[in-house]
Amino acid sequence: MNVVFLGPPGAGKGTQAKVISVERAMPHISTGDILREAVAKGTDLGKKAKGYMDSGALVPDDLVVAMVAARLSEKDCAGGFILDGFPRTIAQAEALGKNLSGGGLALDMVVYFKVDDEQVVERLSGRRICRKCGANYHVQFMPPVVEGKCDKCGGELYQRDDDKADTIRERLQVYYRQTADLIAYYSGKGLLVEVDASQTPSDVTDAVRAVLAAER
Ligand code: AMP
Repeated sequence: MNVVFLGPPGAGKGTQAKVISVERAMPHISTGDILREAVAKGTDLGKKAKGYMDSGALVPDDLVVAMVAARLSEKDCAGGFILDGFPRTIAQAEALGKNLSGGGLALDMVVYFKVDDEQVVERLSGRRICRKCGANYHVQFMPPVVEGKCDKCGGELYQRDDDKADTIRERLQVYYRQTADLIAYYSGKGLLVEVDASQTPSDVTDAVRAVLAAER
């Protein structure tokens, strides 16, 4: 099954994609994670992407489209995948459609994680991530047992630079300017299924499981 998780930053797409990816043995492709890794390693792509990411802007379509095309051509994607954070513009959505149809494939579903702005700000400003294994926490809603330490691997928890107040506001504006149009785009194609992402993480997981199960 080829699925896109769509929604504003902080909607819980990554948290849910991690769970579903394990349950359904589908690779979780997060463009944000791939870009952050490129920045950390100082690759050419990382050097080009860093400034955009730091300010909360989108990385140019051509760079991201090429990066995703390369990832989707890997063997583990042949049986299906979850795209998280891509596409984020209509141009990216069209490039994805072309890329898939070139291989005789198509998207099966776009899960739209619906949540309001206030909750987004609350979630992102409290979000903490493990440097070692990438697990997500929230200082208030999903705190680790020991402050600053990952429950799963003991790694150090950190706050993403773009999860600070000013950048969060910019990312939300970018979402409404450039990404929210994808809701109508995929709805028009009959692919969009909405999930109430304001619920607790485990309730959202149940909702996502239900919509995916209804497809197949
Ligand atoms: P995320 O982890 O999905 O919130 O992404 C973090 C940052 O990476 C975004 O604010 C953008 O700068 C960049 N990014 C991630 N995915 C994309 C994409 N599909 N198109 C453009 N920029 C992206």
